[in-house]
Amino acid sequence: MRWVRRAGAEALLVSSVPNVRWLTGFTGDDSVLLLAERQALMISDTRYDQQLGEECPELERVIRRAGTTLMEAVVRAVRQCRVGKLAIEGQSLTAADYLELTAKLTGTTVQATSGMVERLRQVKDREELAAIREAIAAAERGFAVLRATLRPEQTEKEVADALEHQLRLLGAEGASFRSIVAVGDRAALPHYRPGGRRVGQGRFMLVDWGARVRGYVSDLTRVVPTSRIPAKLDRLFRVVELAQAQAIRLLRPGAVAEEVDAAARAVIAGAGLGRYFGHGLGHGIGLEVHEGPRLAPGSKAVLRAGMVVTVEPGIYVPGWGGVRLEDDVLITRSGAQVLTTVSRNLAELALF
Ligand code: ZN
Ligand code: ZN
Repeated sequence: MRWVRRAGAEALLVSSVPNVRWLTGFTGDDSVLLLAERQALMISDTRYDQQLGEECPELERVIRRAGTTLMEAVVRAVRQCRVGKLAIEGQSLTAADYLELTAKLTGTTVQATSGMVERLRQVKDREELAAIREAIAAAERGFAVLRATLRPEQTEKEVADALEHQLRLLGAEGASFRSIVAVGDRAALPHYRPGGRRVGQGRFMLVDWGARVRGYVSDLTRVVPTSRIPAKLDRLFRVVELAQAQAIRLLRPGAVAEEVDAAARAVIAGAGLGRYFGHGLGHGIGLEVHEGPRLAPGSKAVLRAGMVVTVEPGIYVPGWGGVRLEDDVLITRSGAQVLTTVSRNLAELALF
């Protein structure tokens, strides 16, 4: 609650689903948490009454009836807690909910905040780290099956679907996001959606995937050669590999995010390829695939032990294809530990 008071408010209305989950353990949605000075109230509806009792029995809950909107229930709870200054989460409360809330909540000041809970979520505890490690292990086992069963006639979509099915068989809740499987020149699109291109139609394939375990995610990228390794692929990959290594070397408590990003960017620019690396170097992972800290130009975030970030430099050449190497790294007290173990070596990854 100290952090709510520091923001100048008496209570915080938590509406972001992952924030509610992180604070309470509740895995449902459509529910908000009112964190007041001496009280925490979960405001939900009848669908979640029993689940709330099971997942967070110590939490006081307000179950609204059909016919009462969520914001009407919030207004009642805010009055009950006698909150004069209410902070909301500006990035997750919808404009419609905000307008309804401010129209009905007379006598209370409503102020938008951002990132309060997200900042706390950046540093992972032991249980969260265990879940992330399991999410990485499931992703890596799924990838091993993908490589063992890959056929040239499979389409990108078929490969992605099979991979995600495999992740579930391996005990994950599912994929942490829609897997990217991009054959040949399609790999130049960093957020490509797998389509009808067949594995055998290109000389390599980019796979960006992850698993979700107990809510926590992993996020990896590998390039798999599906023919003799093209010279250009080999050359670009070496640059990306060096950029990633330089960045990982800088990861430690106290490091500034933009400086880590700059180190990788300098390697790619030094090879004359700077214009082909447009996105940030990496991001935190946890309950969400993209969370803080951002490793990107302009990001002043200071790294702390317990953060888990991706390091994913890439080079995307329109019309030719792209390479990206993405690993998940834990910031430790003395430096950093790469959590992902799947080979980065192109020759080792090559198939057919
Ligand atoms: Zn990724
Ligand atoms: Zn990523």
